[in-house]
Amino acid sequence: MKSMSFIVTFLYLIVLGCNTEPKVITINSQKLLENAQILSHDSMEGRGFSKPGSVKAQKFIEKKFREAGLLKYQNENYIIPFNYTFKSKKRHDVFPVKNPESNYSNVKDTTASGANIIGFLKGQTNKTIVITAHYDHLGIINNKIYNGADDNASGVSALFTIANYFKNKPTKHNLLFAAVDGEEIGSIGTEVFLKNYKDKKNIAININMDMISHSDYYPELYACGIFYNPILKKPLEDIKSNEIKFLFGHDDPGNLEQTDWTLSSDHKVFYREKIPFLYFGVEDHKDYHRPTDKYATINTTFYIEVVKVIIQSIENLDIYLAEK
Ligand SMILES: [Zn+2]
Repeated sequence: MKSMSFIVTFLYLIVLGCNTEPKVITINSQKLLENAQILSHDSMEGRGFSKPGSVKAQKFIEKKFREAGLLKYQNENYIIPFNYTFKSKKRHDVFPVKNPESNYSNVKDTTASGANIIGFLKGQTNKTIVITAHYDHLGIINNKIYNGADDNASGVSALFTIANYFKNKPTKHNLLFAAVDGEEIGSIGTEVFLKNYKDKKNIAININMDMISHSDYYPELYACGIFYNPILKKPLEDIKSNEIKFLFGHDDPGNLEQTDWTLSSDHKVFYREKIPFLYFGVEDHKDYHRPTDKYATINTTFYIEVVKVIIQSIENLDIYLAEK
């Protein structure tokens, strides 16, 4: 009898080991879609940097962070405003002239204000996973609203869903959620955030989400950044999905078959500081940076599944990186 039960246990372990069913991640899909719809609504006017639509988006994000029970980072507020000075190019850099001095006078630096919205969940260690998604988009151009549903209402709404998922689940790492401004004009919100962040050495990784809901032909999600930190592959490679293809790539400058996305969004600011990053996103699509990037053109089933895969990635990374 003893050996019989040993065999049964052994077989059971083999079955467990071969289990290829995707892990069940429970999220409020309806809320995920609803919040993406609100952020990309015409009333947000395309969330152009330092425009009234942006301020409206900031207040909405603040409300969602509060509802998710996120703690405030620094100050007393979720919304952390900043001023940014755009250095004008010396004119002779652009148009070489014989006497450059004569052309300096009417070129001035310009300052504009933006804001990042930040909240966090406390973990069991002092290490932090910084999860970013930019909320700004192109605003209104030639009287047309560029709603930016995929780019990047999708990523911001995912921030809320991820925060709600983890709020009652203890994690090893602190999870810092940053809805950042000014990506479309050079990732200036993320630049300001990281410049002022006091504890850079304890950032374990940046998870950046930018365009995660739109897939016209192939239901593919990419995780980009493993090329620079191959140890990140292990915690991700077992993640399974019946709905989407979860792929790695777009990060090897030597691979001429694929565009290199290393500098394509806010994760580049972390990359430049030598902080590991994983960027989750889709291939460019027909509505990219067009007024047709609307809620109606995203793929809702794909989007919901993508967010579940990202949650599972964070869950696995939290455990795996804590042991490193
Ligand atoms: Zn974007």
